[in-house]
Amino acid sequence: MKVSWKTIMLWSLPLLVIGFFLWQGFLTPATTDIDNNVANSRMTYGRFLEYLDMGWIKRVDMYDNGHTAIVEALGPELGNRVQKIRVELPANAPELITKLRKAQIDIDAHPPKTNGAVLNLIGNLFFPLLFIGGLAILFRRSGNNAGGPGQAMSFGKSKALFQMEAKTGVAFNDVAGVDEAKEEFQEVVTFLKEPDSFTAVGAKIPKGVLLVGPPGTGKTLLAKAIAGEANVPFFSISGSEFVEMFVGVGASRVRDLFKKAKENAPCIVFIDEIDAVGRQRGTGIGGGNDEREQTLNQLLTEMDGFEGNTGIIVIAATNRVDILDSALLRPGRFDRQVTVDVPDLNGRLAILEVHAKNKKMDTDISLKTIARRTPGFSGADLANLLNEAAIITARKRKNAITMAEVDASIDRIVAGMEGTHLVNSKSKRLIAYHEIGHAIVGTLLKDHDPVQKVTLVPRGQARGLTWFVPNDDQSLISKTQIMARIMGALGGRAAEEIVFGNTEVTTGASNDLQQVTSMARQMVTRFGMSKIGPLSLESESSNPFLGRGMNTSSEYSDEIAIQIDKQVQGIVAECHKQVLSIIEDNRVVIDQLVDMLLEQETIDGKTLEKIISGYTLIPVKQEYVKQL
Ligand code: ADP
Ligand code: MG
Ligand code: ZN
Repeated sequence: MKVSWKTIMLWSLPLLVIGFFLWQGFLTPATTDIDNNVANSRMTYGRFLEYLDMGWIKRVDMYDNGHTAIVEALGPELGNRVQKIRVELPANAPELITKLRKAQIDIDAHPPKTNGAVLNLIGNLFFPLLFIGGLAILFRRSGNNAGGPGQAMSFGKSKALFQMEAKTGVAFNDVAGVDEAKEEFQEVVTFLKEPDSFTAVGAKIPKGVLLVGPPGTGKTLLAKAIAGEANVPFFSISGSEFVEMFVGVGASRVRDLFKKAKENAPCIVFIDEIDAVGRQRGTGIGGGNDEREQTLNQLLTEMDGFEGNTGIIVIAATNRVDILDSALLRPGRFDRQVTVDVPDLNGRLAILEVHAKNKKMDTDISLKTIARRTPGFSGADLANLLNEAAIITARKRKNAITMAEVDASIDRIVAGMEGTHLVNSKSKRLIAYHEIGHAIVGTLLKDHDPVQKVTLVPRGQARGLTWFVPNDDQSLISKTQIMARIMGALGGRAAEEIVFGNTEVTTGASNDLQQVTSMARQMVTRFGMSKIGPLSLESESSNPFLGRGMNTSSEYSDEIAIQIDKQVQGIVAECHKQVLSIIEDNRVVIDQLVDMLLEQETIDGKTLEKIISGYTLIPVKQEYVKQL
């Protein structure tokens, strides 16, 4: 069972009672109070100084951070007996201490008092008040939900139910790289701003828009931008917050949310992670979830309940539209779908431009180059990247972000933290050959992505890394390109084999081999790129409840299975053979590059190409030329 705030609150009440008595019994007497040991007489600071000069002061006790002193004085004016007198000291009298010490008067300082009379009272009342307050809340809650025995303990209203932002302050200009989505939403903004022109011609304003896309692509940002552009309030709640252990809570939250929204219309209601409640009903491992279904039903009821023209537009976000209950997608509910995908090259450039605006960038920064190095990065990743770079810049005490910091952040985001550098040893030499093996194959194959750099600086799990500049169009990849990638991935192991011999190869290539196998297998079973022919034999699983790609469904005979294995083996063997010959043919330049790498730790792609071109012809890489 999961422990929630409610359980904690429930159990804390008896504890509070005990705590109250403890407080009364043990704590109060231990506190000291200035008022208890002060005589009622007072004197001025000036008088005090006079007494001091006369030698009548015997002892000084400071309180209140040195603002108040209780002095013990003995003098003829005081009837020749010791009296305690209170003196208010000026805030700044450091010379007083020196003076007191010179006169050899006993001084003592007491820590600031914790509770004076008033504080004492508050302190004594604190726990009873808390106790009574707690009871009151408890009764109010159960009074509200007096709808049946099961609901008496439901705390549906005890938490903040949803967030409300009167003004999001986000404009369409803050969202970049998702132009189609923005265009769709321009219309929604118009609905919110001037609903009359639509109702006049009998048009129904859409109630719900579903934003579909992977995490970090700007779905929340877009929803906020709509509210910002239309200048309406923004209500938001996350689907996972609906799913509660108490029955009926989710549904009552939905009710409350829409009630508040109606009071504030026109407005935007944003439901993040709607898949948490909006899954296909009656499915899933372990049967349905009544609470979730109730919440979903309530949501559907609410959406049906308001007329299209009340000015509430519900925007929901998910990254799994395929698992949503079909009732959610019906007309009148989330009938519009807007897809926001991971940005392409131009999208990334535009997003970088947005986030570079408020950062100090050196003139050497090329956002285009950054965009080219970051395929697959979402908007959030890119924002994070520039922020990381800014942090590194600040740590180096530089005054503008340069390419070096951006590169370092990309490396870190993609490959992990920098590890401790390797000491010179045979294994470092082997790693150097392995990496140069990848790099030379990548450089010499026309269809391989160009090398960005080779490095022996360990990162994450990797002890050396070869970085490639990926071709941006990752959606259509030709057979030769896949073959080139397989060869590039085999380059490391091949170099180990040729230089150190078959028996000396290491486990360092295991990751490469995994990729090689997976690429070769997909060529055969998914892309129809083998002698078996254009057949799709396996497809990536789309079972939403077992996670992505966890199992693959296969529908073929054992005979085909044997053929598949043979084809996969054949492809890899052919690639391996070619790679071995590339390494053998270029052994001289490889040796030279390895020495250089061991000395410098990192070689960038340009330098690498220049050196290799001194020995052999490097084919022109079309994509590379076009993009530069
Ligand atoms: P999602 O809701 O899709 O997971 P968010 O909207 O929460 O993503 O994005 C997180 C952050 O990433 C945003 O606050 C913004 O700084 C940045 N971001 C994401 N996408 C974009 C984009 N298209 N344009 C500008 N910034 C973006
Ligand atoms: Mg979000
Ligand atoms: Zn490798």
